[in-house]
Amino acid sequence: MSKLLIANWKMQLSRKEALSLAKKLKARAKKCPAKMVICPDFLSLQPVSASLKNSAIELGAQDCASSNRGALTGEISPFDLRSLGVKYVILGHSERREKLGENEALISAKIKAALANRLTPIVCVGENLAEKEAGKAKSVLVGQLRAALKNVKIKSANDLIIAYEPLWAIGTGQAIIPAEAEIVGNFLTVEAAKILQKRVRVIYGGSVDSQNASQFLRQKHLAGLLVGGASLKEDFYKLCC
Ligand code: PEP
Repeated sequence: MSKLLIANWKMQLSRKEALSLAKKLKARAKKCPAKMVICPDFLSLQPVSASLKNSAIELGAQDCASSNRGALTGEISPFDLRSLGVKYVILGHSERREKLGENEALISAKIKAALANRLTPIVCVGENLAEKEAGKAKSVLVGQLRAALKNVKIKSANDLIIAYEPLWAIGTGQAIIPAEAEIVGNFLTVEAAKILQKRVRVIYGGSVDSQNASQFLRQKHLAGLLVGGASLKEDFYKLCC
């Protein structure tokens, strides 16, 4: 199975910029041996979805609501995302946990809503610097997995992806050493299998760039990359070359 190269554009681009970058990447997609997934902001999803027709690039969202319909001001329905051609959804990103106060129960409800709509959740977990330095990384990761995946049922190992994103590596230029990410990738695969009864894919995210991407992609237990800053440029596709 080819590796995943997932772009998290966050709230960094205007609609015009997002559409322009999507078109450039579409033209380059054939040169990328990995499966490329683009996650634009909600407003850009529709034009980007239209522009990616007949391309190998797939579409992801950066979040979704925990139900399809209801009195949920400002939320975006996972049903409507799927109808728009979205196939993946990033859930539990540390920026939403830390800056927007998302808790484990909500993240877990969103995972279930996404799966019910045939969206593949990309579930983000990761320890912060204090937890890493205190030697608590593994217990933090297991706690996050157990809370997020509680009562989650998947039919196939491809239905859900875990993104290991150590908080201290996100947007800092300080990526983890690839061999260490491989050890964590194996650990998360095993721990998630205890909960889900399936060996789901684990990807890595945190300060991936053109210098280190190939080393991460060589690791056996890392199925791909979740990329923030380095995904905002036209040569994003080169990360997998
Ligand atoms: C992210 O926020 O998911 C991320 C991986 O960001 P960056 O690549 O910029 O560290």
